[in-house]
Parts: sequence; structure tokens; C-alpha cells
Amino acid sequence: MTYRKQFSIILALLLLVTPLMSVRAAGGQLNGTITDPKGALVAGALVTVTAAATNQKFTATTDRQGRYKVEGLPAGVYLVTVMAKGFSVAVREGIAVVDSQTATLDVKLELAPLADVGVTIGTGNTKGNPDPLYTQLRQKSVGQDAFSSSFASVNNLILKRDAATFTLKSGEIYFMSPVEGRAVAAVFIGDGEMTLTPPTEVEKRAIAVFTNEPGMTEQFTQLVLRFSDKTFEEIKQSPNAKMQAGGAQASRARELFREKESLMRRELRFLNFETRTLADLYAAKRPGYFVAFIGGRRWSKLIFMLDPLGIPFVSPEEVALFSHGVSDGGFWTAFHLADEYKSGTATNTQDTRLFDISHHKIEGAIRGTKIIASDLITFRPLLEDVRVLPFDFFPSLRVKSVQDEQGRELHFIQESKDEDADFAVVFPDALEKGKEYKLNVQYEGDGAIKDSGGGNFILIPRSSWYPNNGGTQFGDRAIFDVTFRYPKGNTFVGTGALAEAETQDGDAKIAKWTSGKTELAVAGFNYGKFKKKELTDPDSGYGLEFYANEELPAEMRSLQRSIEQAEAQGAVTGTTLGSMSTTGMSGVALADAQNAVRIYNAYFGKLAYTRIAMTQQPAAGFGQAWPTLVYMPYTAYLDATQRTQLMGLRGGTDTFWQYVGPHEIAHQWWGHMVGWTSYHDQWMSEGFAEFSTSLYVQYVRKDLGKFIEFWEDQRKQIVEATPATKGIKPYTIGPVTQGFRLSNAKTRAAYQRLVYPKGAYILHMIRMMMYDQRAGGDTKFREMMTDFIKTHYNKDVSTEDFKRIVEKHITPVMDIDKNKRMDWFFSQWVYGTEVPAYSMDYTIASSSDGKAIVNAKITQSGVSKDFAMLVPVYADYGKGWIRLGSATIVGNSATELNNLKLPQAPKRLAVAALNDVLATSIENNKR
Ligand SMILES: [Zn+2]
Repeated sequence: MTYRKQFSIILALLLLVTPLMSVRAAGGQLNGTITDPKGALVAGALVTVTAAATNQKFTATTDRQGRYKVEGLPAGVYLVTVMAKGFSVAVREGIAVVDSQTATLDVKLELAPLADVGVTIGTGNTKGNPDPLYTQLRQKSVGQDAFSSSFASVNNLILKRDAATFTLKSGEIYFMSPVEGRAVAAVFIGDGEMTLTPPTEVEKRAIAVFTNEPGMTEQFTQLVLRFSDKTFEEIKQSPNAKMQAGGAQASRARELFREKESLMRRELRFLNFETRTLADLYAAKRPGYFVAFIGGRRWSKLIFMLDPLGIPFVSPEEVALFSHGVSDGGFWTAFHLADEYKSGTATNTQDTRLFDISHHKIEGAIRGTKIIASDLITFRPLLEDVRVLPFDFFPSLRVKSVQDEQGRELHFIQESKDEDADFAVVFPDALEKGKEYKLNVQYEGDGAIKDSGGGNFILIPRSSWYPNNGGTQFGDRAIFDVTFRYPKGNTFVGTGALAEAETQDGDAKIAKWTSGKTELAVAGFNYGKFKKKELTDPDSGYGLEFYANEELPAEMRSLQRSIEQAEAQGAVTGTTLGSMSTTGMSGVALADAQNAVRIYNAYFGKLAYTRIAMTQQPAAGFGQAWPTLVYMPYTAYLDATQRTQLMGLRGGTDTFWQYVGPHEIAHQWWGHMVGWTSYHDQWMSEGFAEFSTSLYVQYVRKDLGKFIEFWEDQRKQIVEATPATKGIKPYTIGPVTQGFRLSNAKTRAAYQRLVYPKGAYILHMIRMMMYDQRAGGDTKFREMMTDFIKTHYNKDVSTEDFKRIVEKHITPVMDIDKNKRMDWFFSQWVYGTEVPAYSMDYTIASSSDGKAIVNAKITQSGVSKDFAMLVPVYADYGKGWIRLGSATIVGNSATELNNLKLPQAPKRLAVAALNDVLATSIENNKR
């Protein structure tokens, strides 16, 4: 099951990976003071700041003066929650943050009603139409005697769960009273030790980021266990445990359990454990899951999970250890079951879906910011015994009813929107594997669409505004038929194409969109008061549309107003925002989009869709691409001068705004025409989209200097240690195949600093190796990329799929090992973490016949002894770089070019002049 959207809380502070995006955090600040109802300062309150558009979270705790401060917030609109013991959770929405500015939000807390202080009453929230067994599971811990029925005193009891070993040296295990005859939770209080050694080298390196060793050993005094496996039976039958009744610490056990229960329900919210348990209670043959909350001496916020159905976020991996701590948060390690490594099935291509959705028929209406909709879902179970279907669905959209094909009301689960609200449907009987079923889900809610003022709206849940398959990384490829009714002054832009012309009914318009016969991984829409401009590309026949908002969003208008007020009072702001508008740029934006599509068509094969809509969104710092629909940050359509005034220098110079369009358009190929298999393969989506941008730079800017500069900028992101990655050089943290896990509390933005640029560099290096001036330049590379898209069209690709394509198109120079394989390249650059340094010393002399003689020595360093690379040497005769040839260098060694005769004397020579090899440094010294 995947509950990707809410998991960012675990990675609090960190940028979480939202797919198919390009993000830049230039940074504003939010601060304020938290007080109680009488105005007294509240210290130690937890302030969580969530970006409305991306769900990215930042946290801060108030100091003794009740103050908090959150820095480095990407410009945008935020939701702020404040939690403190004894007070109700305070929520403030629509807090705007502007780059290089400080926003202030003071919050007066209200005293908590008794329920929040731990008095035993139910949560009292809307719970839909829950299954009775679920209700029992959900309320089990409420009873005062929940842990009083049985306990075991233990002496060196060992619980082994895959690579983890829990040794319960001495103490007591209290079991929660059984549900349907099965024990599903226990609490250990005593002395114990946990050890874990990950099974792979990459994972040993990953855990060492936190433990400074290739594994972990931790002493603990308590364990809270939740399980649907045989833990109870195992302990009961162990000679090292003695089952007893009663027990002096039963109420302490209950308290510890409820603490973790509350943590999961109210803070982490990425997995509704009762739903997960229910699914297994209804499928008795499954092996079951095991989860341990470890009350360790050094690390108090660790959670170990083993789930044969896959762990949220790192699925299809089944074993994981992570921390929800502020200073050590993130995935410490994640891997497959030991048996799978033995049998060779431990791959990221495992399908962890419980069911496959083939069709969504969504009919909805937008009223104000409210969505009222129904989704008729056609699906097929992929496993036996499926009764509980988990969905990925935005919590503030509330399910009203779920019906089966016969119109019978089905049980469903959806806790309150501030809790672990994962939506799940419970069938009365196990479904038949492979048979086709239909479900009709009716839902409505505010909060999925946000009104940013001036006819600017933003759809916050991009892939969960309809019930999406909970077992996928991103979405479940399906046919989408989407009909929406909306106020006629606005425009609704969908994915796919209009099925028929829009109709009008009184004050409403009705739009019918369809993906036709093409399955899409996700569907979405943009909505607002737009001005539309369009063109049809004469070469390819497809349509390009551009939608710009007629007015600026409120955050910009209020900024504009304060500038005007200041100037009216005589201040000189030097700002000339008066005529700021985004519609004026539509011509340029369309031309840019058209150019990008033409280039990508030529390099990767023809776009499979008949149209692309470029649409504006009232978010300053990110763009995102859905099939046929691109969301562009409105700031990309301001001119550089205005952006500089708003955001400081980087608003004008940062290449993000120049290249966000080409990047997002490239996602039509990298992300949609081919998807990615698991988080280990997502580097291709972001990396190749970033690479595609370099083609745009090369062909549209037509400036080799800009092209080199583009790659130099990428190189610096990869090799330079900056505060963005807490002073760690990004390339040393892990390989690109670690995906979002590269980012954690120790490494912060490592994902953004590595996956995008290094993913791009990997393809750039392959292109450069394949480049052959005499054989049409990029011909071979283009053939390979077109073949890649064609072979895997509308499928998810793995890193190994890509490797196979490169091997299929390998050229003699790339075949360093002379075995037609690219193992050498992939093990170094894709699965590895080394980056070499180069230096070249050279001399240029004149020969007796008036030509030039070059001698050079090229040194590779900073790598292990088997690291091999093809290193190109370029000459500049005054008209740009010309490649002379390439040398293969292995390990830390040097190669010499002796008495190379050139027709005339070059001005200079350089190694990898087009940044065609990623290097920590390149020095070229003329002697
Ligand atoms: Zn992207």
C-alpha cells in the first residue's frame, strides 16, 4: 500500500519528492508567536508549515518566548498547524510566503477539550460507513483493561524479523486483548537490544549516514509491536517466555501503545494500521506484517516495518527502518525479503498492487471551491482473498457512499481529514482474482481546490482528487472519462482531449474530457479565469494551447498594493510592478513550447498525444506535468526584471524560470509516454526531462556557451557541498537509484541536487559517447532514444530496461569491456557514487612543415582502480570546440598523447570541453 502523499511528515523538514516536477526553493520566511487563550507564551509548541501545492512540510518548535521561525520556504501558499500539549490543534490556512520576505503568523491556542488530553472516548469524527470488525480494531485500546488479559515474562527471547533481530533480555510483554481470536498488538517493557545489518552494499552505505557503521545496534527499554503475523504464537511457544495473567504494568503498556497509536493517527498519518490489519484478518492465508516502534536509548523515534505486501513509499521493498525524528528523520534503510535475494526475485519490478484499475468514469461539479463528484471504477483483483481495497485519496474530500455493481452500499473506511484518513473499501466477501468488478464512489469536499483570488485556482491533490490505486508509486494506468460542470465564467482544462464540444446549461458549462483509447497513469485538470491562445503545429498537426490567468493571484496583488502605498507615501521602492501581467507572454510561451516539442519529437519519437495545454498556476516555485497538461508557475511568465524585483537576484538569473517549460514538456515523454517502475527508477523521469532541457538550450538558444554553462550548472549541483545538503557533497551520499531516499534529515535536499542533475548527466555522457560527426552526429543516439520510447510505450520502465536499450545500440567506442555490455558504465555512474577528477598538461609546438605538434598527458584521479572512462579531448582553433578524439583511462592513472600532428596550431586544448564527462574538477594546463 502506498500512502505517499502524507508521508512527508516523516521527512519533516525535507523536500519530499512529488513526481514530474521541477522545483526551486528560493526562500521566504515565516515567523510568529504562539500564546495561550490568556496571552501567555507557549514554549515547545510544534509548528508544521505545509505547502498547499506540494504538501512539502517544514517544522519548528517555539522557544521560551513562544517564538518560532521557519526559513527557506519556497514562495507559495501554506497551511500552518500548531500543536502543544493541553491545547487543541490550531490550523491556519492560506498563509502566503513570498521570496526574500518575512511573513508573520501569531496564533492564540485554545484549551483542548477533554478528549484530546487522553480521556477515553471515541474520536467522534465522521467515519463513513465502517466495517464492524474495523470499528472493534479501531477502539480496542480505548478500554482500561485493553492490555490486562495476558502477558509473558521473558528471558533472552529472540524475535527475528528478516535482517532485524530483537533480543528481549529481560522484562514483560503485554498483549492487547484479541480481536476475532487474534492478538494484533503487544508492548514490551524491559531491557532489550536490536541489531540490523542490511543485505546489500548500497543499503549498508545508506544506514551508515545515520549510524556511521554499515548496520545498527540499539539498546531499548520498550517496544510497541503491531502485527498480523504469528508473533503472539511465537512468543507463547517460546521456552524463553512464560505466559501469565494480570501483570503490574498493564496500564503502562496501554499508555505506551496509545502514544504510538496517536502518533500514527494524528501526526504521521501515512498508514491506517487498523485498515492494514483488517485486510489480513480477512485474508487468513497471508503471512502478515510486523511493525516495531523502538523506544531506544540513542534513537527514540525509530520504526521497523516488515510487510510482504510492500512498505508505503519504498514498495515493492518489504523491509524498512525509518525515523520520524527531526534530526535523524528519513528512511535509514529499505530492502527486499532475504528469501527474495536467495531466489533472485529481489527486484524493483515486483507488482505490489492488490488490484488493477482499468477505467475511471468521473462525473463532478465545481461550486466555489467545492468538488462534488462520483467515480465509477472498473478494476480486477490481482491476488486471492482481497476484501479490503486501499486507495490513495485526498483526506478533505469526504466519501459519502460506496456502492457495488448491484447498487448495494459497501462498508468503507475514511477517518477524519486530520487523522489517518486513508480511504478503503471493504467488501462483504473475498473477491475473485482476475474477475472484473465495478465500484461507485461518491464524494465531496472543500480544500482540494484553493482560491488564490482574481480567478486563480489551484488543484492541490494532483493525483488523489479521485480515488487512486493505493498500491502504486504514482498512479494506475487506466482510461479516464471525466465530465465536469462548472460556473460559466471559468475555464476547465482537462487531460486527454475534449470528447465533444462543451455545452452550457443556465449558468453552468459542461465539459467532457476523455483519454480516448490511451491509458493514462494520472488525470488532472486546471481551472480558473483564463485567457486562451492556441496554435496548430503545421509539421505534426497537434495543437498547443496556452492558458494564462487574466488577473494576478491575491498574494501578488497585495504585494503590489503595499508597494503602491509605500510609493504614495513618498518611499522610493525602485519597483515597477504596476503593469505586471502574465498574459502578455503567451506568444513567447507558445513558441517555446512548440520548439521544445519539435526537438523532442526529433530526438525521442513523435508525441503520442494530439495536444498539450500549457496552463498557469498561482504557485511561484514549481511546475508540474500531467499527460497533455502542464502546470506552469505564474512567475515563469513574468519578465526577468519583475522577477528580480520580487525575488531578489535569483529571480532574474536562476535558470529555473527559463527552463521550467522545456523541462515540464519533456515529461510528456519521460514520465507519461514511459513511466518509471519504482522509486529506484524515478531518476530517469527527472534526469531525462532535465537532459531534454539541454537539447532545448542547444537548439533554441543556439549558443554553445549557454549549453556548456547549462552543464556546468548541473555539475556544480552534483559535486559542490552547500548548506542545501548540510555541507555534504551530493554525489557521495548515494547512487541516483536511491531516489527520494537520498533526502533525509542528515542530507536535506540531496534528492534535488543529485537525481535531477546526475540523472541528466548520465544521459548526456551516453549521448556524447555516441556522437559521431561523420555519421550524422546524434543519429545513433536518436535511434536509441526513439527505440526506448517505442519499446516501452505506455509502460513503466526500470533502470535495467534502459541498460538493455543502451546495450542494444552500443557503439564500438562505448564497448570498453568488448562484451557488448554497459555494465562498466552503469556500475560506475548509475549504481555507483564515484566521480573522477581530470587534469591535462599539454604543449603545442610547430613542426618543420608549418603544422602543429601536440603532446599531452591526461590524468584521471579520485576513483577506484577499475573505474574506466572514455575521455574526449577537444581543440579550439578560434571557432569553438572540435573533438580530436577520446582516450580510455582506467583507475587513477595517466595516458599520453604523443606527437599528435594537427593541420594548424589550436589556441587551446581541453578535456571534456562540453562537460561531456562528469568530473569533480577539470584542469587544462598549457605548458
Ligand atoms: Zn520534473
